[in-house]
Amino acid sequence: MPVLKLPIGDIVPVKFTPFLFRSNFFASPHQNPIKLLKVAADAKNLKFGRIVHAHLIITNHSHGDCKVNQLNSLINLYVKCDEVSIARQMFDSMPRRNVISWSTLMAGYMQNGSPLEVFELLKKMVVKDNILPNEYVIATVISSCDSQMYIEGKQCHGYVFKSGLELHQYVKNTLIQMYSKCSDVRAAMQILYTVPGYDIFCYNLVMSELLQHTHTGEAVEVLKLMISEGIEWNNATFVTIFRLCASLKDIKLGKQVHAQMLKSDIDYDVYIGSSLIDMYGKCGNVSSGRAFFDQLQSRNVVSWTSIMAAYFQNGFFEEALDLFSKMEVDHIPPNEYTLAVLLNSAAGLSALSLGDQLHARAEKSGLKANVIVGNALIIMYSKSGDILAARCVFSNMMCCDTITWNAVITGHSHHGLGAVALSMFQDMLATRERPNYVTFIGVLSACAHLSRVDEGFYYFNHLMKQFGIVPGLEHYTCIVGLLSRSGRLDEAEKFMASNQINWDVVSWRTLLNACYVHRNYDKGKQIAENLLQLEPKDVGTYILLSNMHARVRRWDGVVKIRKLMRERNVKKEPGVSWLEIRNVAHVFTSEDIKHPESNLIYDKVKDLLSKIRPLGYVPDIASVLHDIEDEQKVDNLSYHSEKLAIAYGLMKTPSGAPIRVIKNLRMCDDCHTAVKLISKVANRFIIVRDANRFHHFQDGFCSCGDYW
Ligand code: ZN
Ligand code: ZN
Repeated sequence: MPVLKLPIGDIVPVKFTPFLFRSNFFASPHQNPIKLLKVAADAKNLKFGRIVHAHLIITNHSHGDCKVNQLNSLINLYVKCDEVSIARQMFDSMPRRNVISWSTLMAGYMQNGSPLEVFELLKKMVVKDNILPNEYVIATVISSCDSQMYIEGKQCHGYVFKSGLELHQYVKNTLIQMYSKCSDVRAAMQILYTVPGYDIFCYNLVMSELLQHTHTGEAVEVLKLMISEGIEWNNATFVTIFRLCASLKDIKLGKQVHAQMLKSDIDYDVYIGSSLIDMYGKCGNVSSGRAFFDQLQSRNVVSWTSIMAAYFQNGFFEEALDLFSKMEVDHIPPNEYTLAVLLNSAAGLSALSLGDQLHARAEKSGLKANVIVGNALIIMYSKSGDILAARCVFSNMMCCDTITWNAVITGHSHHGLGAVALSMFQDMLATRERPNYVTFIGVLSACAHLSRVDEGFYYFNHLMKQFGIVPGLEHYTCIVGLLSRSGRLDEAEKFMASNQINWDVVSWRTLLNACYVHRNYDKGKQIAENLLQLEPKDVGTYILLSNMHARVRRWDGVVKIRKLMRERNVKKEPGVSWLEIRNVAHVFTSEDIKHPESNLIYDKVKDLLSKIRPLGYVPDIASVLHDIEDEQKVDNLSYHSEKLAIAYGLMKTPSGAPIRVIKNLRMCDDCHTAVKLISKVANRFIIVRDANRFHHFQDGFCSCGDYW
């Protein structure tokens, strides 16, 4: 059948007419054309609707209300079939209209995403036809208001309030929806409190909006109100409440809601299941989440991913990765979220080779193009010490978001590549992506790294304001780091004194570290004393303090600090370094003799040290004395865990391959000097991640600029 292009008002050629006309279909009094138009509209069957329309044009002689109703049905037909302009032509040609004509066309414009048209029609309806909006009209107008039309939405609310239309449940729903869309959650919540009558849909919407905007306190209030009204909960309610418990980390409430869910006769689907698992994960109770997961009848990729994420969030990276192999046994392919969790777990273990495998996996499955996967890859590579690979992933990404930029900027900053980080930030500013709170942490620490004080202050004082970001403790601490690193210790101290914010251990330690590096021991000791008042068990502080005494050869001071540590039962965790060679992790502790090849490793260290001595290496006695793990033996300095690990790496990897070592504590000065020189004599790129940062050793230098 040819497609009938209907010129409105024209006589339609009849030659295509099918059975409807031949059988005199419309002659039957039971075949009401309005009913037929409704059938066509509901089925979005434009072809059938046009046939009915054509027939009406040929045969119709109806007048008055009957005519208006027919035309309304035609408007509805064209609106439902996404032909709003035809509907508009019909509407404009009507000599007389009623409220249904107006509301039908408005609904069309609303579905079409033209809120301004809807509002224009409302004005014309009131002014030209003198018709006041009823609940349907007002609901349509309110639903069409988006954040651009917040003022208009509020005006409608005013009318609703005066006319008493808010007692209509769906008007109330649309108002709540409108305020939620416009991010005015408090106004949405207000409606729940002031307008009687309830609807579970409203509660779900308001609670989920409140959670979205992290107004957890208010969400709890709404939950209480909902409980007091005794409404029956649906699936979406449970999902929302589990999310609430997760953000409150309220395991007690979470368990009660879980019990409630088991008692209720709702049919719990994978979404409730995964929000429940997620809740247990976020509340730090993975085992309860796992128990629930284990007894699930059917599991899909969402349930698997949520249990893996729960393990990952609680630091059980290996368990998360283990579950993946079980999921594969079940023949469930991972999605982008699964891969992101796995990559994050690999990053948590700094397991580069595993990360590489997952990368290959992402490539094969076509998920690599996904921005979530791309971001996770950047984070994994940067945390595992391969910043070049991270940059490579970044430059191959088809699309990126704020998280992508933050990941590369912060990653380069952590790796001591401040200049790259800042030039990437400039690139970001040239795009449409807006920097956020996290971006500026990366940017300011890059400035600190490069001692670019003026630039750092410009970002802190002006650019952040320009982007509407209120600086937080992290940014303030970066400024302390910026001033300290540049040797402006007095200014750093003044900056801390003049900004009455809750300075924490990290900020004080930044200043203390600067005093140590810049050898301002008097100030350093005084800050260390303050710091120990704040955190009497902070091992790092004792070590730096003892180190400062050692540097000025105040051995009595060193002894005093050791005694203090014993009295307060402060113990330094043993230094551990590890590196991965061909997918196997090798772990070393200081003076390690457990390794099967320890003799050879010790020989290699001795050999390396003898090679770097001519370059000016002198063992740093102060480093030994501050280092509790080594006690008195000077000799042990040579066998700190990272030296052993690097020696082993040099023995076992082909020349030219970079060596990546992870150390749990801050690298000592002696190791730092030694590794710089080793990178030169062995002609290797050596990357060490210690407790503070990444060090890239190459040709006798370190990317940290000897400041860490
Ligand atoms: Zn060391
Ligand atoms: Zn370094």
